[in-house]
Amino acid sequence: MATPTDDHQENHMQILRQMPKVELHAHLNGSIRETTLFDLARERNIQLSSHHFSNDLLPGVDHSMYNVRPRSLQDCFAMFAEISTVVDDLPSIRRVAQEMLEDFAAEGCVYLEIRSTPKALLLLNGSSKLATKRDYCETVLQVMKEFQKLEQDRYNIDLSNGLKEFPRLPLVCRLIISVDRSNDVMNGWENIQLAIELKKEYPDMVVGVDLGGNPLKREFSDFRACFEAARQGGLFVTLHCAEVPCSDEEKESSAYQDANAILDFVPDRLGHALLLPPILQKKLEDLRIPVEACPTSNVMTLELAERNSGGSLLEGLSRHPQLKRWLFETNHPLAISTDDPGVFHTTATKELVLLQKAYSLTNADLQKIVEQSMDYAFANQETKYFIKQRIKDRFQMINEKRV
Ligand SMILES: [Zn+2]
Repeated sequence: MATPTDDHQENHMQILRQMPKVELHAHLNGSIRETTLFDLARERNIQLSSHHFSNDLLPGVDHSMYNVRPRSLQDCFAMFAEISTVVDDLPSIRRVAQEMLEDFAAEGCVYLEIRSTPKALLLLNGSSKLATKRDYCETVLQVMKEFQKLEQDRYNIDLSNGLKEFPRLPLVCRLIISVDRSNDVMNGWENIQLAIELKKEYPDMVVGVDLGGNPLKREFSDFRACFEAARQGGLFVTLHCAEVPCSDEEKESSAYQDANAILDFVPDRLGHALLLPPILQKKLEDLRIPVEACPTSNVMTLELAERNSGGSLLEGLSRHPQLKRWLFETNHPLAISTDDPGVFHTTATKELVLLQKAYSLTNADLQKIVEQSMDYAFANQETKYFIKQRIKDRFQMINEKRV
């Protein structure tokens, strides 16, 4: 039975769900719905690891706000490998992309950048014919374009028939093509060349490139020339950075060198940048490179909330190595994101709830964070201006309690 506290929380969640949101760091496979993952595994007769994919949530606990699942950085890479075994053909990637768009739209997201590493998947499950990396990207782009059109049509109809005075804002989406540093440099070049070609063919939709994957594998310097080429090709660059610890006393360590080389490149944005030692932290703050900060993901991968003892994500967030400082002391450019809603059991709304509760933020603070995120989007200036205006207007309606 729902208690008054539950009702209050649900009401609060509802208000935050209506707020427009901007998502700049979300991986396609990591956004898979759990139900879809189980469906695809069943269809393929694949047994998923019960360590990572069990449903043994604590009874009576609002598990959405607690860390009850193993999600260390290494757990996550093991999970991504498993997800790839079930998302193995073009129809399954189409389904994952469609559902990801539906889920972000349902959370009030008005602008979403999907990132994904192109793979040569099967044309169909069970067939031996391989599709190409280009087929992979074009499948995702097709889903995105169709979804965007339907969203805009739905919004226009809602507005014109007057049934809803303030219908949900339509979702605009863009694609970032990733390079996985677990794969070799040739593989990285393939993805970058493909991104450059697709940027010419889909100039509005393909906006950037990303370096991700296991940070213990290879170094940014191995891929630096790829990202130079991407830049020359008119693509924005975001790089996952400082996901493993290093110290200023160990400048020769590969983790330090890697983080330093990434900062020297001055990418347009950084993913996480969690564990920079003081000298590199200062360098980041001087360069003011926007950081994509993913609260739940950070708490889980850094294991800031002890698992099995009902470790609260809120408590974990209070131990976040940087977020509080960035928000309140250095006013660092930030975009609050989800990273992998499927893997971390989160949503764009929950990330804002967490942030608001952990740092006692007002709705006006959240508005500032959302608007600021839009400043660092990779869309063209015209789109950014237009969406930012939309965000401002909707917040005004929410503040006047007209929504
Ligand atoms: Zn990421």
